[in-house]
Amino acid sequence: MVDVLSVGSAQALEMTIDDVLALSKRKQAIIKARLLDNIKKQGDCWIWQKALSADYGITHIDHKQYKAHRVSYLLHKGAIGDLCVLHTCDVPACINPDHLYLGTRLDNSRDMMVRNRKSTKLTNDIVICIRREYADNRYVHGIQTKLAHKYGVARPTMQHILSGATWTHLLPGE
Ligand SMILES: [Zn+2]
Repeated sequence: MVDVLSVGSAQALEMTIDDVLALSKRKQAIIKARLLDNIKKQGDCWIWQKALSADYGITHIDHKQYKAHRVSYLLHKGAIGDLCVLHTCDVPACINPDHLYLGTRLDNSRDMMVRNRKSTKLTNDIVICIRREYADNRYVHGIQTKLAHKYGVARPTMQHILSGATWTHLLPGE
């Protein structure tokens, strides 16, 4: 049995990512330049060439580990808060800011993924987003049903995602 709490706490480390915006402009420029040194362009995608975790680029800032696409979003487009950064290109290792957009909160009825639900399939990004939302809202009544509805999947499918029975490659330590 996979401990879903550990999914939440591993992601909690990333919730301070906006702190990077508090660093000096000079330091942010250095981080940005370093990011761009570590990519290879493939079509429109900027593919991360350094360490990966579950296909996502990993980078370090002040000894803290971050997902490279989240840092790229932050430095090119701005604050993330506790939202998910999603790919339009469905390539986890891509850090092209033009391919990145913010997911929205569970309580936002005009959510992008709800509007596009019929054409949306589950991707790595969306599964990470689902697990993050679950970790943040685990005591909300009917949360599993709400998430299943939001993401357009059957409730058993949602249970499997949340228990870690499926999409196991995205769990920490895998
Ligand atoms: Zn891309």
